[in-house]
Amino acid sequence: MAATLTARGNPLAAPAEQRRALADPAVPNFADRLKAAGLPPVTAVRVDILQVNVGRVCNQTCRHCHVDAGPDRREAMARDTVGHCLRVLREFDVPTLDITGGAPELNPHFRELVRGARALGRRVIDRCNLTVLEIPAQADLAEFLAAQRVEIVASLPSFEADRTDAQRGDGVFERSLRGLRRLNALGYGRPDSGLILNLVYNPAGAFLPPAQGELEIQFKRELRERWAVEFNRLFALANLPIGRFLEFLLATGNYEGYMERLANAFNPAAVPGLMCRTLLSVGWDGTLYDCDFNQMLDWPLVEGVPPHLRDFNPARLAGRRVAVGNHCFGCAAGNGSSCGGSLT
Ligand code: SF4
Repeated sequence: MAATLTARGNPLAAPAEQRRALADPAVPNFADRLKAAGLPPVTAVRVDILQVNVGRVCNQTCRHCHVDAGPDRREAMARDTVGHCLRVLREFDVPTLDITGGAPELNPHFRELVRGARALGRRVIDRCNLTVLEIPAQADLAEFLAAQRVEIVASLPSFEADRTDAQRGDGVFERSLRGLRRLNALGYGRPDSGLILNLVYNPAGAFLPPAQGELEIQFKRELRERWAVEFNRLFALANLPIGRFLEFLLATGNYEGYMERLANAFNPAAVPGLMCRTLLSVGWDGTLYDCDFNQMLDWPLVEGVPPHLRDFNPARLAGRRVAVGNHCFGCAAGNGSSCGGSLT
């Protein structure tokens, strides 16, 4: 598996370079397309989900990672910022904490964050890459997540080993299966256990995901019959042109064609459900963003809104204009795409 953009010194490691590619005049303009469809600018409604990116350290280096995460990255949320997250959950009515990374479990304060949020009665989601469950220092991670009744969202782009490994690294499919079976043995994905295990599909190339419902039926059948694995829901996500997927698009000459494909599939019906309307993203240093994609582009909240978690103010965050860019076509194309799957 290739190293991160950062380790390779690739210019796209700099968010400014990614923003430059997205601002290319040859690329369709998202704000113009909204206007042409008679839609108002995208505005946030409230904060239902605090999505906290606790760092960019990961044990994997997946080909399409928008975070450019990997073992060489060092960014990690410090304990006092974790404390800010818990204070916000304690003081404000934010029902869900969604923890992402990198591999979020590798942050030394991950379990403190989970325990704190669960003690406050919050729903907690862990975006788990599955292979982290096999790291010796994480030997009890699966049991910890089950005991805390954390919902798991795990990437599995295919029920075929070669396709998954091509995207996520050699041997990742087998290790993911072992992780899934272990989670199943704890009750995850089993009917009536209340332990939720959702999977994420994303396309292998420069195309949109197929219909989520049909794909879920296929994944359920194949994973059960071939691999004895159960799960709850499948989320079909589009790849956004950010990070290593942007590198792939540019390196293979697919960039402009992919952006055209997304723009041609623009679906006005997906816009009201865009996740940035009800989610707030927190960076490893506590900076706030409209979503994890904007975070990776270093694309700040609009002016006038407190930009850091320590000044979290739901009244000033609700109604803010979302800082959209041309990458947003990825969320509004076809059936729509979000961290919770299709939007329509
Ligand atoms: S990338 Fe998606 S979630 Fe983020 S601001 Fe754009 S439309 Fe909203």
